[in-house]
Amino acid sequence: MEARPFSDLSYHQFLNEERLMGSRCQQCGARFVPPRPICIRCQGQAMEWVEMTGEGKLVAFTCVTVGPRLMIEQGYDREHPYLSGVVELTEGARVDARIVEVDAGRPETIKIGTPLVVTYLHRGEGKDLKTTLGFRPR
Ligand SMILES: [Zn+2]
Repeated sequence: MEARPFSDLSYHQFLNEERLMGSRCQQCGARFVPPRPICIRCQGQAMEWVEMTGEGKLVAFTCVTVGPRLMIEQGYDREHPYLSGVVELTEGARVDARIVEVDAGRPETIKIGTPLVVTYLHRGEGKDLKTTLGFRPR
């Protein structure tokens, strides 16, 4: 596992395995999800993989009514919006994710600071398996 490069490809492979992984700078301790090969805080290049607990809180969200084609194909549109958000993990890193099990049609009911837990949204199978990072209320 530790041999995997600190890349988006590795990040998505881990999501397929239902693991939320990031990189941690061995010099200053900053954590990045998705992983970065170089620390943006201290420019350190000694990184190690760290597994996140998958718990965090909602810090920002957008209700998407006109999504990319992939989402339209899954049935999302003006009548059936979905939520895209930013989650601050317990470990401190911030990550973009889909927010599920909330009423995306009534964004006024969704509160910043809501405690969330990770969920893995799989599509396809085998080598075509693609996993989107999601979070749902705890
Ligand atoms: Zn650093």
